[in-house]
Amino acid sequence: MKFSNLKLTTPYLELDSIFYDKVEPTPLKKAFLISTSQNAAKLLGVADDVSLDEHIVNIVNGSHKLEGSETFAMCYAGHQFGYFVPRLGDGRAINLGKVNGQNLQLKGSGQTLYSRQGDGRAVLRSSIREYLMSEAMHGLGIATSRALALIGSDTDVAREQWEKGAIVLRLSPTWVRFGTFEYFGRGSKQGHLQMLADYVIEESFPHLKGVENLYLKMYKEIVQNTATTVARWQSVGFNHGVMNTDNMSIDGRTIDYGPFAFLDDYDANYICNHTDVEGRYSFKNQPGIAHWNLAQLAKALSPIVNYENAIKTLDECFGLTYENEYLGIMYKKMGLYERDEKDVELVKYMLGSLQSFPVDYTRFFRTLSRYSGDKSELLALVELQTPLSEWLDEYDKRLEKETLSQEERQTQMLAINPKYILKNHILQEAIDEAKQGSFFMIEDLLKVAHNPFDEHEELEYLCKPTPPKAKNLKLSCSS
Ligand code: AMP
Ligand code: MG
Repeated sequence: MKFSNLKLTTPYLELDSIFYDKVEPTPLKKAFLISTSQNAAKLLGVADDVSLDEHIVNIVNGSHKLEGSETFAMCYAGHQFGYFVPRLGDGRAINLGKVNGQNLQLKGSGQTLYSRQGDGRAVLRSSIREYLMSEAMHGLGIATSRALALIGSDTDVAREQWEKGAIVLRLSPTWVRFGTFEYFGRGSKQGHLQMLADYVIEESFPHLKGVENLYLKMYKEIVQNTATTVARWQSVGFNHGVMNTDNMSIDGRTIDYGPFAFLDDYDANYICNHTDVEGRYSFKNQPGIAHWNLAQLAKALSPIVNYENAIKTLDECFGLTYENEYLGIMYKKMGLYERDEKDVELVKYMLGSLQSFPVDYTRFFRTLSRYSGDKSELLALVELQTPLSEWLDEYDKRLEKETLSQEERQTQMLAINPKYILKNHILQEAIDEAKQGSFFMIEDLLKVAHNPFDEHEELEYLCKPTPPKAKNLKLSCSS
């Protein structure tokens, strides 16, 4: 099947027109293809090489329509940095329609009814980041929207300086956000809440159809999915940076990649978003913020779900799901497959030590995955060796309780501790090259993004240590 032969449907347009704005994309000037993800294209049932499809650039640029496509922007509200904004919506994203359970969306394709003061554009820099990170998050086994194609252009876009406009073709099983419910959870629009809930059940939770307390059960699944995703972020050291409720997907997947970052040196207090002065969205705050956002969703749902019951569900399920997922992953990252009552303490001890060494989070676990009792390689990673050596003494004792052979343990640890993480310094190199018209690094990064646990001998340069000056930087929100 060819990409340009896909036939789309538009179930969202069957909702009342208050849910969306029918709008046409505004194509970029002199658009050109930068990259495609064949891996993402497979989700749509596309087997042919997308990069060779003669219509790909024009489809992503919004100047060629797929059959059945009717373009629209979705309306939503949201809590931004804790403050409620009654109307946001897709200010620079335009939806094309749905195929194979995936909703196709162009990001950066021009103004919509919801653009407010914005130009409806996305710059090349932020589009490269979103394109690669969507695919990398999937490669890490974490639920996320995907990215099928990236185009560049000659359109000038005003930010701190003039930049070039770009568009990412994103895919997601849903683009409904917590903020979509918040839009309909207040005032005269409450009548539409149930309509939205029924749509979400059909789209994201069809297995719930016909159960008792349907909307509460839906809420419970949202709580569990969100807790699972955030636990996975914490396990790989991912800081999202803008966990506003409009950036929280209703099925719990990671969406809207802005000033995100992976931890270089482990630092629980790290804040990747430069504008987040108070650290509301710091690395360590992410689980608490997810909980807070879910409480806002409970409020929005209160006309159709008893609020006390929703909050009870939140309190019962969030922490439990989060802890189970997070600890389960951390035990595996440490190669602990048997259970010992003191394992939780060993994880806490390790995190406390990582904070003090200091040490690159990803490198530490990758090196630990090859640990065989000789501490030298691990100790070489840190300046402060005594705390690591002491922690390793405890770890050695604990490993004695394991029944797996050392070799088997190492194989399993290498399959859960990624070698390739899209750190900001390496993304920045790819961006700098792209601005000069060279896109090779994007292709290299895409390759490791899809297989972050494998060795890629020819791509070792993508996991070189972060230069000290570039460690745990704060990123601008401008995109
Ligand atoms: P974000 O936090 O980047 O997900 O964006 C928050 C809100 O601002 C969303 O409603 C976006 O659609 C909107 N937005 C961000 N950048 C632009 C832009 N350049 N033009 C129009 N709307 C934008
Ligand atoms: Mg957003």
